[in-house]
Amino acid sequence: MSEPHLEAIADADPYPYWLDDVDEPDSNQTLVRTESCDLCVVGGGYTGLWAAIIAKEREPARDVVLIDAFTVGAAASGRNGGFFESSLTHGVSNGQARFPRELATLERLGLDNLNEIESAISRYAIDCDWERTGVIDVTTAPGGAEEFRDEHELLLHLGQEVELLDGPMMRNQVNSPTYTGGLWRKGRAALADPARLAWGLKAVAESLGVRIYEDTKATRLQGDGLGVLVTTPLASVRAHKVALATNAFKPLLRRMRSYLIPVYDYALVTEPLSTSQLESIGWANRQGLSDYANQFHYYRLTEDNRILWGGYDAIYYFRGRVNPWLEQRPETFAILSRNFFTTFPQLEGLKFTHTWGGAIDTCTRFCVFWGTPMQGRAAYAAGYTGLGAASSRFGGEVMLDLLDGRRTTASKLEFVRRKPVPFPPEPLRFLGIQATRYSLAREDRTGKRNLWLQPLDRLGLGFDS
Ligand SMILES: Cc1cc2nc3c(=O)[nH]c(=O)nc-3n(C[C@H](O)[C@H](O)[C@H](O)COP(=O)(O)OP(=O)(O)OC[C@H]3O[C@@H](n4cnc5c(N)ncnc54)[C@H](O)[C@@H]3O)c2cc1C
Repeated sequence: MSEPHLEAIADADPYPYWLDDVDEPDSNQTLVRTESCDLCVVGGGYTGLWAAIIAKEREPARDVVLIDAFTVGAAASGRNGGFFESSLTHGVSNGQARFPRELATLERLGLDNLNEIESAISRYAIDCDWERTGVIDVTTAPGGAEEFRDEHELLLHLGQEVELLDGPMMRNQVNSPTYTGGLWRKGRAALADPARLAWGLKAVAESLGVRIYEDTKATRLQGDGLGVLVTTPLASVRAHKVALATNAFKPLLRRMRSYLIPVYDYALVTEPLSTSQLESIGWANRQGLSDYANQFHYYRLTEDNRILWGGYDAIYYFRGRVNPWLEQRPETFAILSRNFFTTFPQLEGLKFTHTWGGAIDTCTRFCVFWGTPMQGRAAYAAGYTGLGAASSRFGGEVMLDLLDGRRTTASKLEFVRRKPVPFPPEPLRFLGIQATRYSLAREDRTGKRNLWLQPLDRLGLGFDS
C-alpha cells in the first residue's frame, strides 16, 4: 500500500464509530418466558423506540414490550451519518414528483416531526450532541449554483429558509477547491450522535415502563384469537397489537418482501482535526454537507471535530443478503478515501480511524410506507431509503395511529395510504438494480438520463440510497 488514500484507511478500526463508545448501555436480557402485553414492538431502532415511547406517552397504562433480534440501536439507527432532516419524502424534489398535491402538508408535518424530536431530546435530557445546523447541498459542476435553480424555487415557494451560494460564498462556508456552488437549507436539519440518541430513547422507553428484550428475534407471527402471537427462539409474546419496525432486515410478512430491498451504505470517520487543519477548511457553521448528484457523499463534523464521510456507493447484494460480513467493503472504502482527499487536498496525511457499513431499507418511492396486515392487528412502517433518521419518528407515530384507529391529518394522506411500486423478483431485481446503478453513475458524468432510466421514471420506479 503506497498510495496516500489507501494508507489513510490502512489502520482504521472496522467498526461503526458511533458504537465505539464507553457509554454504550449494557445489553438487556433475552426473552425466556412467555409474555403478554397490549402492544409488542418488533425492532429496537428509532421506528420501534419512538412507537413504544409515543404509545406510553399517550396511554401510560398501556402494557408495551419491545424485542430486538440483536441490540437496540446497533443497526442503522446507531450507525448512520447523524443527519436529521425534516423531509419525510427523501427530499422535496422526490416529494414534488410523487405527491405534488400533498407536498406542502408533508413539509409542515416533517418540520413538526423534527421539532418533536428536538423537544423530546430536551424534555428527557438525552445527551446526543444535537446541533440544528442545516444542510448544504454542494455542487462541483461547471454551472455552479445554477444546478439548484428548480429546487431553490420550490423551497422558496414552500416558504422555506434557503440560501443560494455561488462558488466563493460556498468556499467561504467550507473550503474545498472543487466547490462551484451550494444550496444551504437552514433550520430544517440537525446533526446528532445517532447511537447516543438511540440509547437515550431506550432509557426513556424503559423509564416509561416499556419492557425491552434484546437478542430476541421474532421468527413468526400468527393471528391468535383477538391478538397476535409473536414467536421467538426461546419463548413468545402474546400481544393485542404488533408494531413491526424491522427496517432492512428480512420482513416477517411475506407480502412486504416485494416492496423492500436492503442496500448497503458505507462510511468512514477521520481522527480529530488539529486547529490548523480545521482552519484550512473553515466550516465555522458546522453544517451537514451532501453532494448534489446521484452518487453522493454526505459529510459532517463530529462533536470532537472529526469528519464523517459516507455514501457514494450503494450496494445491493444478490437476493437481498443482510449479514455482518457485508459491513466491511474495502473497495468502497478506497473510493471514499480517494474522493475525500480530492475534496479536501489540504488534509493530506489525515488518517481514518473507523470504517463501517449498514443496510438501509430502499423502496421504489424512496420514502416510508405503511401497511396494516392481520386484520389491522399488526402494522409496519419501512422504506426510508437513507433518510430515515428523523422520519422514522413519523413512521413510528403513524404506525401507532393506524393500530389505534386514529384519524389524523397524516392518516388520510395518499402518502400514508399508497404503497410503492414493487420490485421485480430475482434475478430480474438484481440485474435491474445493476443496470440502474450503472445508468445513474453515467448520468453523473454526462448529465443525461439514458434509455434505461426514462421508462423507469414513467413507471415511478427508482433506486437511491
Ligand atoms: C451507514 C448509514 C448511514 C445513514 N445515514 C443517515 C443519515 O445521515 N440520515 C438519515 O436520515 N438516515 C440515515 N440512514 C438511515 C437511517 O439510519 C434509518 O432510516 C433509520 O435508522 C431506520 O430506523 P429503523 O428503526 O426503521 O431501523 P433500524 O435502526 O435498522 O432498526 C431495526 C431493528 O429491527 C431489529 N430486527 C430486525 N428483524 C427483527 C426480528 N425479526 N425480530 C426482532 N428484531 C428485529 C434489528 O435488530 C434492528 O435493531 C443511514 C443508514 C445507514 C446504514
